[in-house]
Amino acid sequence: MCFNSQNMKLVFATNNSNKLKEVQALLPKNITLLSLLDIGCLEDIPETQPTTEGNAIQKADYIKDNYGYDCFADDTGLEVNALNGAPGVYSARYAGEQRDANDNMAKLLTELQLKDERTAQFKTVIALQINGELKTFTGICEGHIVKERAGDKGFGYDPIFEPNNYNKTFAEMDLKLKNEIGHRGKAMKQLISYLQSQ
Ligand code: IMP
Repeated sequence: MCFNSQNMKLVFATNNSNKLKEVQALLPKNITLLSLLDIGCLEDIPETQPTTEGNAIQKADYIKDNYGYDCFADDTGLEVNALNGAPGVYSARYAGEQRDANDNMAKLLTELQLKDERTAQFKTVIALQINGELKTFTGICEGHIVKERAGDKGFGYDPIFEPNNYNKTFAEMDLKLKNEIGHRGKAMKQLISYLQSQ
């Protein structure tokens, strides 16, 4: 495959419109992303592995095996040091199966209520299934959990996570800055370099 000279369609195994927006903004114009909806995948893809890496691979393999498309999938966890890395791989359902961002943030703020040590990191693993090969790319963004929510941009835990060296949360940043310094942006840059080297 020559990545630079031809238009290419690549499945991103997500229906999260925020993630699609973030990732499409990073990709060269000759790559069009297809979502799960675009390929008619309406079922929940199993995410039953004990690590973010395992879940990303499981999702990418599922699309390749069941739909035949080359694709990539991401899995992200927020790892809080004072909680021994929790919620980590359980970030989406930290406060329950309803997978609600407000409930998740409320639970995390309660768990950290009496703690001064609030350092944390976002970790994204992207698994790419292409031409019969599997590759993974990892991006990490270090920071801390603030005491009160701030900002209304982004999604998930963005209003309570402040990356190092920035005096604002992800939810107070525009997408361009979040992509430059954030976990998913870092992993995506490696994915794009890999595709360009093919
Ligand atoms: P998943 O990788 O989409 O399963 O995400 C796991 C959990 O982390 C979900 O609760 C997401 O809302 C949250 N999450 C994923 N990426 C981000 C991000 O960039 N900022 C804030 N929360 C995120």
